[in-house]
Order: sequence, then structure tokens, then C-alpha cells
Amino acid sequence: MLSVSDARARILAIFAPVETANLPLARLAGRVLAGDVSTKTDFPIFDNSSVDGFALQYADIASAGYESPCTLKVTADIRAGTYSDIPIQSGQCTRIMTGAALPPGANAVVMVEDTDFNNRLAGSPAPHKVAVYKPLQLGENVRRRGDDLHAGDKVLSSGTRLRAQEVGLLAMLGLPEAPVYRAPKVALLSSGDELLPVDTTLTPGKIHDANSYILAALLASAGVELIRLGVASDKEADVRSRLERAVDEKADVIISSAGVSMGAFDYIKSVVESDGGLDFWKVNMRPGKPLAFGKFHNIPFFGLPGNPVAAYVGFEVFVRPALKKLSGQTPQARPYQKARLAEPVESDGRESYLRAIVSEEHGQLKVRLTGHQGSGNLLSLVQANALLIVPSGVKSLPANSEAQIWLID
Ligand code: AMP
Ligand code: MG
Repeated sequence: MLSVSDARARILAIFAPVETANLPLARLAGRVLAGDVSTKTDFPIFDNSSVDGFALQYADIASAGYESPCTLKVTADIRAGTYSDIPIQSGQCTRIMTGAALPPGANAVVMVEDTDFNNRLAGSPAPHKVAVYKPLQLGENVRRRGDDLHAGDKVLSSGTRLRAQEVGLLAMLGLPEAPVYRAPKVALLSSGDELLPVDTTLTPGKIHDANSYILAALLASAGVELIRLGVASDKEADVRSRLERAVDEKADVIISSAGVSMGAFDYIKSVVESDGGLDFWKVNMRPGKPLAFGKFHNIPFFGLPGNPVAAYVGFEVFVRPALKKLSGQTPQARPYQKARLAEPVESDGRESYLRAIVSEEHGQLKVRLTGHQGSGNLLSLVQANALLIVPSGVKSLPANSEAQIWLID
């Protein structure tokens, strides 16, 4: 049977990034950058104060103390957003606000808290004189031009998924738009005669459709556009017509759950096989052995297992890396962490993704299972903050051995 890593390699091989377009800043969060970004200017753009206080020459207050304050003449009031080009001389200072440009001649800023000026009322005018209680180092409380970034520095790399801070950085650089990969379109199908919508009362033999919600939430976290194909009954014609809607809607990927096992009414596999092709439909893993991959017409198709935990794991192991590649993101692999087993763990020799909880104990990451590992036991996944990975061929791991985990929070 196909190993997890071979299956993943075969999947990734057929995906390539979607097209790119320039989008305005307000629509960039969650999108993937399609080009490197460099800064054209230094940051900070000008020397400025990091505190509210008085800009001065540090040599003037070298002897300052609470018993022997140094008094300076206040020659200007520099508010954030304003600029003074009058150089200050020895014995002089200017009042200055956080972020305001340092006046020429000044080389340090004393915090207002370290002076005798204690009028804290908003709008209060600058004093004519100020007594300083503390000496300063050269450059103290000054943010120098270029301290953070130099003109020409590359600050963002192509393939980066844009979070709040990257979008903020683009704004700081004065870029109103950026090139990004468009959101991939993913069509999602549940299947099974037993499934009823969550807002209907169950009748004997029926269950509520949970996978649509699990997979839609995972797809939202992957930043894709969702096309809902609903729930297919266990009939060939219904399966086919719902999958055909994905073709009409120009989906980039189709994801289904259930109907890919050995059941007498599992039509998903046969429909995909006849209207496209299956590359494989079994992977040597637990949970999630029945996992189909192929193409429906020309659209890559994932047939995830029906059991909710297996569908979740199949998504994380195979679908998420493929969506990352499709959306232009690098790297596609999820980082592993290492943790020590708090208890022995048994497996059956398949590569296993077990629901686990990781916590820090005495400065070490400890991992234990969250309960019975049946692939329908969704609560074991609800209680988990990690998947514990038991490699293929390993049947038991002793307590205290080191294991690989994926954090899933
Ligand atoms: P199947 O692969 O169709 O044999 O389904 C395997 C198991 O997953 C069965 O117990 C199904 O009832 C269950 N199952 C399938 N689809 C869903 C779903 N959308 N939500 C919850 N359970 C499901
Ligand atoms: Mg079924």
C-alpha cells in the first residue's frame, strides 16, 4: 500500500500556483504574496523621539540630579506630525512628543517624568524653562533614521501568507496594493444516505452531517473560496450531477467525504474513475486508510474518508499542503515539534496520527493521548491540541521516548 510520504509527493506533483492579481491593502489579509517586496526608504524615515519630553543636548545635563537639576530654556514645541528646522543651541531644548521629528542640534530626549514639568493636562502649553533631574546617554530616547530598515532591504518574500503584521508593513512602506495569488476555489461535497442537515430532527438510522462543517472550517482557515455541493445520496446519478457542478463553477479542487471505502453503495470512487481517473484510493495510514485521489474531468479530486476524525486528518496530511502549493505559499510542509511521551503508545504499524494533548511540564513538552482513538470519536479531537505521529512500521513507543507532533491549535 502507498506510504503517506509517497502519496503526498504524488499529490503535490500535480499542483501549481493559481494566477495572480494586484489587490488593495484592505483585501490582502490571508492572501499569499506573489513577488518580493523591498523598501525604497529607510525606517524610521527621520530621527524621532520615542517618548514625550524635551529634546536637548545630552552634554548640557551631564551633572543633573534630583538635588541639582539642570535648567534649560524651551525654544519650541514640536508636536507629532510637525517639524522644526531651527537648530537648538547649548542650554536650550524643545518640548517634543512621541514620534515627532528631532530638531537639528538635539542628540537625546529626556522623558517628561524626569523633569519638573508636571502639567499633564491635554492641551497645556510648553513651559518657558524646564529643570531636568537626570543625565542621559548620547542618543537616549531617540529612534534613529534607518534603525529598523534600510532603503533597498528586502522585507517580504514571495510565497508569504499575509497576516496582520505583513499588511501593516505594506501600509508603513506606503504601498496601497500588492500582487497576490487569487483564492483557490474549492468545491466541497458530503455523501451518504444517512446524513441529515443539522437543523432537522433525526429519524431512525440517520445522523447529522458533521463533515461539511469540519471541512468548511478547515477550508476557511486555508484561505480558499468555498463552493458548496451539498450532500449527495448514495446514488450514482446524484453523485455525478453534484460533482459536475464543480466543473461548471470552475473549481480548482474538489473535496468529498465518505463513499470511498468498500461499501456496496460507495459510488464516489466509481464516478470519479469513469469521468476522470483515480491515481490511488488507499494509503497506509491511521486513521484514514480509504483516501482517494485523482481527477474528476480535469479537476484534482480528494475523496476523504467518512469518519469525521479521519476526514480531518486526511485534510491536514494531504489537502492542506496541496492547497498551500495551489495558493502560492511556501513552504508547503508543516513544521514538526518534538515532545516526550507521558505514557506508552501502541500502534498497528501504519503511519498513525493520534489525537493528543501537549503540555509543558518542568520545561519539557509532554504528550499524552486524549482517549480512545476510534476514527468516529470526534471528542478525542476536540480535546486534542496536537496530533502525535507514530511512524510507519512502529508498533509501540515506550513512555518517555521522544515523538513527533503537529500542533493543531
Ligand atoms: P463511509 O465512508 O461512507 O462508509 O462512511 C464512514 C463513516 O463515516 C460512516 O459511519 C458514516 O456514517 C460516517 N460519515 C460519513 N459522512 C459523514 C458526515 N458528513 N458527517 C458525519 N459522519 C459521516
Ligand atoms: Mg457511506
